[in-house]
Amino acid sequence: MFDLSHKSALVTGAGSGIGRAIAQTLAQADALVWVADINAEGGNETVSQIKQAGGSAKFLSLDVTSAEACQGALATTGPIDILVNNAGVGAVGTILETTREDMDRMLNVNVLGVYHLSQAILPSMLERGSGSVINLASIGGVVAVRDRFAYTTTKFAVVGMTKAMALDHSHTGVRVNCLCPGRVETPFVQARLDEYPDRDAAYKEMASTQLNGRMVRPEEVAAAALYLASDEAAMVTGSCQMIDGGWSAGK
Ligand code: NAD
Repeated sequence: MFDLSHKSALVTGAGSGIGRAIAQTLAQADALVWVADINAEGGNETVSQIKQAGGSAKFLSLDVTSAEACQGALATTGPIDILVNNAGVGAVGTILETTREDMDRMLNVNVLGVYHLSQAILPSMLERGSGSVINLASIGGVVAVRDRFAYTTTKFAVVGMTKAMALDHSHTGVRVNCLCPGRVETPFVQARLDEYPDRDAAYKEMASTQLNGRMVRPEEVAAAALYLASDEAAMVTGSCQMIDGGWSAGK
């Protein structure tokens, strides 16, 4: 099960956190993984870790906010079977505290990044009649997260893009799904924690939003990505996979 040999994957934001764990997990299942990131140091570190573990990976310097760079990606990578739109950024604040600059940054990376790269890679998947696109949404794409106005806005958009793409291309062999993790212990969450005056209290509060009282591990998100990438998930498209320790189930 979950054999990705002869498949090529491109994971954005794979130089850190969840993207790195997904890149490692897909490589363990024998995919050739393109580790795409704006951060060359983090990206190359992921590539080294994958190679040390016996997998195949290459670094691709890519800024997903650039439509031109996204359109040019396939020329370097060749055909992509699995696209993981993972690169994302966060910001704390209500609508009143969200500056136009923050809003633009969040929309550019979290929404337009998914749009640019999917638009660049989807035609070649459709031509070959197969492919799996996996978008990193969030718990914040399904229920609003307090003090995360811009983030919640962009992640609801990612869920919408996922469903719209899945529907429009449902008879083609190309599947589109999204992952909705709760709080995952990565540099992304560490950065949010640094914004609170009482970091320990903020950590406990963030851990407690998962009903089982702990944060999600990056490899637990990667396991779901592996399933969605595999042929075993042939009947799964347009779905949101919750990996949130029950957060969205209710209180
Ligand atoms: P992270 O900050 O650890 O890693 C994000 C990576 O994206 C970094 O390597 C960064 O360099 C890269 N990146 C940022 N902007 C980019 C751009 N314009 N082009 C290419 N790469 C870019 O974050 P993470 O926690 O691993 O989060 C990954 C994804 O998962 C994000 O979309 C995030 O919204 C989502 N997510 C995270 C959590 C969480 O609690 N950590 C929860 C739910 C969803």
